[in-house]
Amino acid sequence: MPNVSNSTNEFATNIATNIVTNIVTNIVNKIIRPDVQALHAYPVQDAKGFIKLDAMENPFLLPPELQDALAQRIAKTALNRYPVPSYAALKTSLSTHFGVPEGFELSLGNGSDELISMISIACAKPGAKVLAPMPGFVMYELAAKLAHMEFVGVPLNPDFTLDRAAMLAAIVEHRPAMIYLAYPNNPTGGLYDVADMEAILHAVGDTGIVIVDEAYQPFAQVSMMARLPEFSNMVVMRTVSKLGLAGVRLGYMSCAPALLQEFEKVRPPYNINVLTEAAVLCLLEHAEVFEQQAAQLRANRRELAIQLSALSGVEVFPSSTNFLLIRVNHPDKKDDFGDQVFIKLREQKILVKNVGRMHYLLKNCLRVNVSTLEENAALLKALQCGLGDALK
Ligand code: PMP
Repeated sequence: MPNVSNSTNEFATNIATNIVTNIVTNIVNKIIRPDVQALHAYPVQDAKGFIKLDAMENPFLLPPELQDALAQRIAKTALNRYPVPSYAALKTSLSTHFGVPEGFELSLGNGSDELISMISIACAKPGAKVLAPMPGFVMYELAAKLAHMEFVGVPLNPDFTLDRAAMLAAIVEHRPAMIYLAYPNNPTGGLYDVADMEAILHAVGDTGIVIVDEAYQPFAQVSMMARLPEFSNMVVMRTVSKLGLAGVRLGYMSCAPALLQEFEKVRPPYNINVLTEAAVLCLLEHAEVFEQQAAQLRANRRELAIQLSALSGVEVFPSSTNFLLIRVNHPDKKDDFGDQVFIKLREQKILVKNVGRMHYLLKNCLRVNVSTLEENAALLKALQCGLGDALK
């Protein structure tokens, strides 16, 4: 016999829940911007139980002696105080280690993602536009839209080099306030030709700024940082994420002081917390550890690229990052072959990024992290099996 009073309670609870849900839906519809409602939150795949090769992380943990040094430094940090707003010691340490030219200051972000938002907010005059080569880093477009700016994507050449003529024509047509050049680019992995970048910097002149995003600099070993004095319209942006500190969340940027001063005005107060500050200060005293890890990953990248290229039906694009963009080609040119291989890799507990539907130039492309020799071998084996299974 069903318990009458229990089912009555359940009925009443359901009605109450529905009423509350309706009220909240009304609030959302009345208050939240329609363009925000239409967005999807930044997609992060659930990686539990997987070999995680989808987010360009460094696979190495800190060596035990560095873990101890860090623990001691963190334990002594004054958590009761707000950070000192100038972040002077941290900025000096970053400038020294990462070759910021004399006379150039830094602005810090909670990851370079926050710097992208800050620049967008500061430049979002009515009608201002943002331009970037496509395919590119998704946050450029998202941050532009959130700041109510129009985003103009200019397709790369099919070999993922910059289409200089198209970029220059778009600059004349749109007069963008902001242009992003990821150097090297995500998700394609390659470096742009410096002469193309110079042509863009010159064409923009004083009508906009060019943000050179050097997130992958540890794996590229080239940089525009030293050329800041030459280009008043250039912002150089970096992060410690790819170096092995993605969890710490610290990005930094530099540009002409008068411009940087304006970006500082939109930076949320105390955006870098004292734990991040203490950790990065401590770890940069041992920068050689991260340099060695980056060198190891560069060597692993060379080897993995050779091994992947040897697989039948796999095309590997040149990379100056800690990931490789590959295209998987079906003998009958099947459009969803990349999706099928992605699923086969997932079944074998290997998580990569399926970028095949991000842009028409990326058809059947997957983005795979360069990792340890063991994880690279696991990827290779799974890909061999996956390609075979997907062909059946
Ligand atoms: N720029 C590029 C080109 C990236 O690929 C990424 C992260 N994938 C970022 C910036 C953001 O890095 P973070 O916020 O971790 O500093």
